[in-house]
Amino acid sequence: MSQVENDERASPDRLLRAFGGDPRRAIREETIVCLICQAAFRQITNTHLWTHETTSLGYKERFGYNRRRPLMCGALLRLYTERAIRSRLAARILRRPIVSNPELRCRGGHRPVALEEILNRREMQLARGASARGSNGSGRAT
Ligand SMILES: [Zn+2]
Repeated sequence: MSQVENDERASPDRLLRAFGGDPRRAIREETIVCLICQAAFRQITNTHLWTHETTSLGYKERFGYNRRRPLMCGALLRLYTERAIRSRLAARILRRPIVSNPELRCRGGHRPVALEEILNRREMQLARGASARGSNGSGRAT
């Protein structure tokens, strides 16, 4: 392995620290930043990841993204999402094998939880707490 490759693989923490330890911050409206080389793209393609000798899944695991996180900027993700909904693909994508195939549930629901999911859950809990304190039953009939 060359020195450059060693340096690239040296410390995901250092690269992630530039985004406050939150991999989601590398994804903006118009760009997504590669956490290996810091280059900005509309999306991080498999072709680009091959130059770092990794895969989409390897990249997501290394930096704590959810396995299903699309590696693209917000604008592009929205475009694809809207297109998918229009062509009714979304319904098929959202089909959850564990619901439609009871055999899978019998095997147990253990799966690795990504950093992104932990951060998302924490923020949802905080938001829920804040809104519960902020409003007291508005719109409720007497
Ligand atoms: Zn890169």
